[in-house]
Amino acid sequence: PTPPSSTDSPRGLAIAEAAAAVIPGGVNSSTRFIGAPYSFVAADGAYLTDADGRRYLDYHAAFGAILLGHNAPVVNDAIRAALDGVDLTGIGVTEAEVRLAQRIVEVIPSAESMIATMSGSEATAQAIRLARAVTDRDLIIKFQGGFHGWHDAVARNVISAPDRAYGRDPLSKGILDQAVDATLIAEFNDLESVEALFDAHRDRIAAVILEPIPHNVGALVPTTEFVEGLRKLTEQQGSLLIFDEVITGFRHALGGYQQVIGVTPDLTTFGKGMANGFPAGGVAGRRELMEHFNGRTGDVLMAGTFNGNPLGCAAALATIDYLAGHPEFYTRTHALGERMRTGLRGILAYLDIEATVVGFGGVFAVYFLAGPALGYRDLMRNDDAAYVAFHRGMTDRGFLMLPMSLKRNHISGSHTEEEVDRTLEAARDVLATLAR
Ligand code: PMP
Repeated sequence: PTPPSSTDSPRGLAIAEAAAAVIPGGVNSSTRFIGAPYSFVAADGAYLTDADGRRYLDYHAAFGAILLGHNAPVVNDAIRAALDGVDLTGIGVTEAEVRLAQRIVEVIPSAESMIATMSGSEATAQAIRLARAVTDRDLIIKFQGGFHGWHDAVARNVISAPDRAYGRDPLSKGILDQAVDATLIAEFNDLESVEALFDAHRDRIAAVILEPIPHNVGALVPTTEFVEGLRKLTEQQGSLLIFDEVITGFRHALGGYQQVIGVTPDLTTFGKGMANGFPAGGVAGRRELMEHFNGRTGDVLMAGTFNGNPLGCAAALATIDYLAGHPEFYTRTHALGERMRTGLRGILAYLDIEATVVGFGGVFAVYFLAGPALGYRDLMRNDDAAYVAFHRGMTDRGFLMLPMSLKRNHISGSHTEEEVDRTLEAARDVLATLAR
C-alpha cells in the first residue's frame, strides 16, 4: 500500500476531517498525529486494515501495547467471559483482581504486592508519589530521553531536540515550575552523572526512575554495572529505585527486564503490553513500601474508579497466563528480533549507510548514526531526515513503523519469520534509495 492521501483514501480522509472538527488535532493523543489520515477499521494478529482497505504489517503495535498480536483470541475470549460477570461495583474486590495481583507477585522478582491502575502514567505518578511519601524527600532523578507518562512529575527532558518526538521541554505548558525543577536529569549508562546529582542534592532525592532499556529513544541497552551501580547508590543514599517496565515488562521476559539483568528495584510500574491492548497497569514492590497505599493504615492516596476493572483484569490475566504457559513466546520473539536486527545490519553495511541497529528481544530500532549508542548524548548525532525517509518508504510498502525517529518497533507473538524476511526485502529497497 501507499500511505493514505486525499486522492486514494476517501474514507480515511472523511473520518480524519470529521475528527478534526470535533477532536483537537483530530486525534486523542498528541503523539498520534503523523501527518496522514490514518483510520484503521480492522486488526488481526500482526496486521491492521485501514478504512480504504489497505493492509499493513504492524510494528507500531500501539506503542507496544500489543504484545501477543491484535485481537489475540485468548485475550478476547477472556474479555467476553468477563462481560457476563459483575461489571463494576466501587466497593470491595473481585476474584479476578486477586488473581491478577497473585500472578504479578509470582512472576515479577520485585513484587511482594501490587495495586492496579488503568495506564502507565497513573502507575508512574503513584510510584513517584509513594517514593516522596516514604522518603519524605522532594526530588527525583530521571534520565535524558526516558518517558514515563504525561504527568507533571516526569515532564522534563523527554526528548530535547525540537524536531524530535515530543518537541518541547518541559513536555507541556501549564506545568508548575516547581514540578519541573523537582525533576533532575541524568545521562543513561553514566553512573557518575547520577552520583553528581546525589552529591549536589544531599538527602533530597526520593527516587531514581528509569526505563531499564529506554525504548522511548529506541533501545539504549544498559550495562550491568550501570544498573547494579544504581541499585547500590540508591540503597546507600536512602532513596528508591523505580523500574518503569511499562514497555519492557512481560515483553522481554515474564519477570520483566529486572529478571534479565538480575537487579531488583524497590518499585516497578507496568502498563501497555500487560493486557495486550486493553487498559491496565499497575505498581508493584516491596510490601513494606506498598503498605503506604493501604487505605486504612497507610498515608498515600491511591484511588481510581476503574482500577482493577473487570475488562482490564481479564485481559491482563489472560495475557500473563498465556505468557506463563508459553515460554516459547520469548524464544520466538527474541529469535525474530535477532533475525531482523542482523538482517538490517547486513543491508546497511552492504549499502555503506552509517547506521546503528539496536534492540532487545522482539524490539528493534535503527539509528542513523555511527555507533555505539549508549546514552542519549550519542543520539544527538542521529540523522532524523534519513529516519523519516526510511519510515516513509516502509509505510509506503505496507510496513507500519513508529513515525518518530529514535523510537522503536515491536515484533509481537503473531509475526512470523516469513514476515520478517519480507520486511527485510522491503527495507533493502528503501535503504537503497537512501544510499544514492
Ligand atoms: N512509561 C513508559 C516507559 C512509557 O513508554 C509510557 C507510554 N509511552 C508510559 C510510561 C505512560 O503510559 P500510558 O501512556 O499508558 O499512560
